Amino acid sequence: MGENFAFFLPVMMASFGVVFAFVWTLGIRAAGYWSAAYLCVAGGFAVPAGFALLPTPLWGFVADLLFASGFLLFSQALLERWRPNWLLRARIAIWALSVLLCAMSLLLDNLPFELVSSDFGCFLLIGLPLIAGRDRLDNWSDGTLFGAAALVALDNLMRGSTVPLTLSSDSFLNSDYAFLMQALACVLGLFLALAALAANMLDLLARYRRDALHDPLSGLLNRRGFDDAIGQRTRKLPTQGSLIVCDIDHFKTINDAHGHALGDRVIVALARILMEFAPADAITARFGGEEFIMFLPDADAARAATTANDIRESVAREVASHLGLSRPLTASFGLSAVQPGDAAIHDAIARADAALYEAKMHGRNRVCVRRALAVPDAPAASLKSRARSG
Ligand code: GH3
Ligand code: MG
Ligand code: MG
Repeated sequence: MGENFAFFLPVMMASFGVVFAFVWTLGIRAAGYWSAAYLCVAGGFAVPAGFALLPTPLWGFVADLLFASGFLLFSQALLERWRPNWLLRARIAIWALSVLLCAMSLLLDNLPFELVSSDFGCFLLIGLPLIAGRDRLDNWSDGTLFGAAALVALDNLMRGSTVPLTLSSDSFLNSDYAFLMQALACVLGLFLALAALAANMLDLLARYRRDALHDPLSGLLNRRGFDDAIGQRTRKLPTQGSLIVCDIDHFKTINDAHGHALGDRVIVALARILMEFAPADAITARFGGEEFIMFLPDADAARAATTANDIRESVAREVASHLGLSRPLTASFGLSAVQPGDAAIHDAIARADAALYEAKMHGRNRVCVRRALAVPDAPAASLKSRARSG
């Protein structure tokens, strides 16, 4: 392997270290381990350059230490995805034993034993996470990463097992061992880095997507998340199901009397109650300031009204006492079933909104249902009207 190639390896590995460091600054924790691992390995491959500048046998130990540390970090980076800190002590023990055996081999001037100790240490460190990750390969990026790590583990195992065959008696750098190590490190190091980078970027996208679709205060879906979830659930327009919209009564006075922070806690409390009563297949979202929406895909209007009324009663009973409010806290509900003539889910939302308006007009703390906007003056049935509060 030419000297230029030997020069290329540390530069390539260090470049990946820098790229992963950048991904780490975007909030992907595992990328920090990938970055440190690639920088360690880059340092290990740069050791011949150090030796050329300052010839001392200590460089051998520096290389062994950097490779072992790099592979300990690789194992941690992989396990961050699959099972963080799994067998951490065992992996640190393998790292320590491998470094110790390398140091002893150097003292005894036994190069084959040093290489075997280093290769088997690296094999175990990157191979162990594969045991933890084998049943957690949910998507193609995890599968590719698993495959790349398995190849790197195999490379170390094969190289360590064939040291007597590949290590020629003259200079280490001219041996088949060094050639194989550099050539395979180049190909597999690149493959592993690209697989890890793809997995990290997908994690980042998933996080941004999750943030874009959720309301940070309540943890519920936001308006976009609601539309997205409806679209995913039904693909086409839902042909059945019911919608409940909910709005906290006189919320402005809560903010005015108790402060915005307590208002926020009321929103969180209401979201918790909604989740508590939502059927497993319901889609629940915070639609605006103190407005919430719930789509019940399999419920007719009567069943949805029962759910809405249970929520209404729970809000009136629990929130004010739980948060120490001086006055009762209630919410109003509007309800509508999806109808065959609806052009979009927003038709049903508009009807539910009209029913909510109705509930507000008739004194709040109640559930109203609106059947169709096509009959503008149809009386809005007040279901189970006001239960407890005045
Ligand atoms: P109504 O019974 O008619 O619904 O009266 P209301 O006071 O609840 O309705 P209004 O629309 O007048 O006031 C809504 C208030 O909600 C005004 C706004 O300051 C408050 N609000 C909106 N978003 C948030 C939020 O995220 N946190 C808090 N604390 N308040 C919010
Ligand atoms: Mg309100
Ligand atoms: Mg409102």
